[in-house]
Amino acid sequence: VNRIVVKIGTSSLIHPNGKINLSGIDQLAFVLTDLRNQGKEIILVSSGAIGVGMDKLRIAERPHEIPVQQAVAAVGQSELMHIYNQRFLGYSQQTAQVLLTRDVVDFPESRKNVINTLQQLISMGIIPIINENDTVAVDEMDHTRKFGDNDELSAIVAQLMDADLLIMLSDIDGFYSDNPSKNKQAILYSTISTINQTLMDQAGGEGSRFGTGGMVSKLKAAQRVLDAKSAMVLANGKPPRIIFDILSGAEVGTLFKEE
Ligand code: ADP
Repeated sequence: VNRIVVKIGTSSLIHPNGKINLSGIDQLAFVLTDLRNQGKEIILVSSGAIGVGMDKLRIAERPHEIPVQQAVAAVGQSELMHIYNQRFLGYSQQTAQVLLTRDVVDFPESRKNVINTLQQLISMGIIPIINENDTVAVDEMDHTRKFGDNDELSAIVAQLMDADLLIMLSDIDGFYSDNPSKNKQAILYSTISTINQTLMDQAGGEGSRFGTGGMVSKLKAAQRVLDAKSAMVLANGKPPRIIFDILSGAEVGTLFKEE
């Protein structure tokens, strides 16, 4: 495994009380810098702009109106990058902000530009930190769906950059046979080789709105990764050190890989 895309979700970056999880971000910076120093090529896809913006602007409830979310995300994105820069620089690691929309893959010219930029950053030893450009695209924001949150974007980036592995960090230990917060009998899958309807149903289904949304988009991301003959691990990002375990071949999380 040489080229790795790591996606970190809001739940791993923001404490339940709405404050920024500085130790989590610091540990992520430490782990990714160490991997970079070992010669691995790292791309980080980070959510959290809205959460950080809410904390900065002292907004307690996630706003419902899309333009307000976009404004809060714009505030939060620069603050989040400021924090990442600080933490990574503590380990002498340079980072770069890259804002994308998911349709970059549809236009050959922009597709080429994205690949060139990321390739150049990587060869300069810099860790690109990617987020969806929330000012331009709001697909991942729609609170009535709660789908996305960069899951699909991270799979697109992994595909574009021909990554060996996508590590998706969430607040759950992996993919279960049912939503474990509702069903204590749910069993963790250690490996999944094809995405079928049974799994989609176990993810909660697209129509489930507020409850379980996140898992459907993670399966869609996994599908994209499997189509590209690559692999994805879904694991618990608390703490981010788990990335070391994943790369050392420990049995953590759920591995999505063709047999
Ligand atoms: P993130 O913000 O980290 O991207 P989400 O909150 O979108 O993560 O999704 C993770 C949540 O999905 C879990 O905490 C869990 O409550 C829920 N979930 C629903 N169905 C499943 C399932 N089959 N396996 C694991 N988690 C599930």
